[in-house]
Amino acid sequence: MTFKELGLVDPILRALQDQGYERPTPIQSQSIPVLLEGKDLLGCAQTGTGKTAAFSIPIVQDLYRQPKEKGKRKVKTLVVTPTRELAIQIGENFTAYTKYTDIKNTVIFGGVKQTSQVYALHQGVDVLVATPGRLLDLIGQKFITLEYIQHFVLDEADQMLDMGFIHDIKKILKLLPQQRQSLFFSATMPSAIVKLSNEILGNPARVTIAPEKTTAEKVEQQIYHVNKVNKTKLLVHLLQEKLTEPTLVFSRTKHGANKIVKILDKAGIKSAAIHGNKSQAARQRALQHFKDGDLSALVATDIAARGIDIDELSYVVNYDLPNVPESYVHRIGRTGRAGASGLAISFCMLEERPYLKDIEKLIKTKIPVVEEHEYEFRMEDAAEPTHKKQGQRPPRRKNSSSNPSGKSSGNYSSGNRNRNRKRN
Ligand code: AMP
Repeated sequence: MTFKELGLVDPILRALQDQGYERPTPIQSQSIPVLLEGKDLLGCAQTGTGKTAAFSIPIVQDLYRQPKEKGKRKVKTLVVTPTRELAIQIGENFTAYTKYTDIKNTVIFGGVKQTSQVYALHQGVDVLVATPGRLLDLIGQKFITLEYIQHFVLDEADQMLDMGFIHDIKKILKLLPQQRQSLFFSATMPSAIVKLSNEILGNPARVTIAPEKTTAEKVEQQIYHVNKVNKTKLLVHLLQEKLTEPTLVFSRTKHGANKIVKILDKAGIKSAAIHGNKSQAARQRALQHFKDGDLSALVATDIAARGIDIDELSYVVNYDLPNVPESYVHRIGRTGRAGASGLAISFCMLEERPYLKDIEKLIKTKIPVVEEHEYEFRMEDAAEPTHKKQGQRPPRRKNSSSNPSGKSSGNYSSGNRNRNRKRN
């Protein structure tokens, strides 16, 4: 199957060629024909499958074929997405695919001044990509009307609900014309999502791209069992020895992300953090440095990492395992994109093993464990306090580098001290 065989017009084909896309990804070959027919679509697919192009290309084609409007352009396509990064990313996709057309898009999101966004809207746009809060805000101020919407896309619906956007979404729905094409994408389909999709879609075509295909098959995955104090050492070691290309590191918290950057800095490894406490400009700057190859690592929280689009990202490290298994799928979907190979390494502390179990259940794969690494945590280590209590010798550690004397008691006490160190 080629893009040409999908019946796309020449200006789009040329733009796709400029992007270096050779053939449609599975979600594209399944979605584009039904969307070109004007049907609604329910897409169960995660990021990294090419879903942005899957929905934006047919929309661009439909807009391209419409007669030129008289007067100022009206917003005819609305894409609602949970985060600014994702919004920017989708806007960039539209810009790329409309390169040889007259179609205009703009992106609006919160956390920045509205002036330039209002100015862009004033100029007239065909496609509006928005996060829910700023969209409602600008609608309230009468800078936007949804009266003329023909295509409505709700992207990353599960994340929208997780982030508490359900009421905003319902408000937006009330403002949309009844007659429209609706597209609904979600990586997961729990019952709340199915219910919401029923409210939005009328008899949709369904496309499911199974997560197993994009995670277990395309991305090599590895687990490193490690205790908390050794996580940073292991990260430094991997970045120095194994991960030779820019690596995306996931931290569960913003504070944790900042701490990791400090430690990497001390080790002479260039990195930056992106998370919700950083200004939009700082996040964009960090992302650009990372894309340009100036940083060895970009440390991100889940929310900030949504929508990060970096072609050919080879390595992802889960410094913390996510407690929501779907987040793991999202995270590792950052690598191995559109057919490229990737490696996703996850650090797993004893306390995180239940998360690992949930993840393996979701992806229906047992993730291989890297054994005998320098900072390996073994179950015997967890049992040490019991040995101590009973006055027994602790088990010998494989890694004796910290104990050149070979005296197991010395090794034991230092390890124990580390383990009992205040968590921070
Ligand atoms: P998405 O799932 O929309 O986040 O897209 C993932 C990545 O795949 C993006 O970097 C796209 O530019 C890229 N991509 C999308 N479609 C194709 C294609 N047909 N061939 C090659 N790369 C693609």
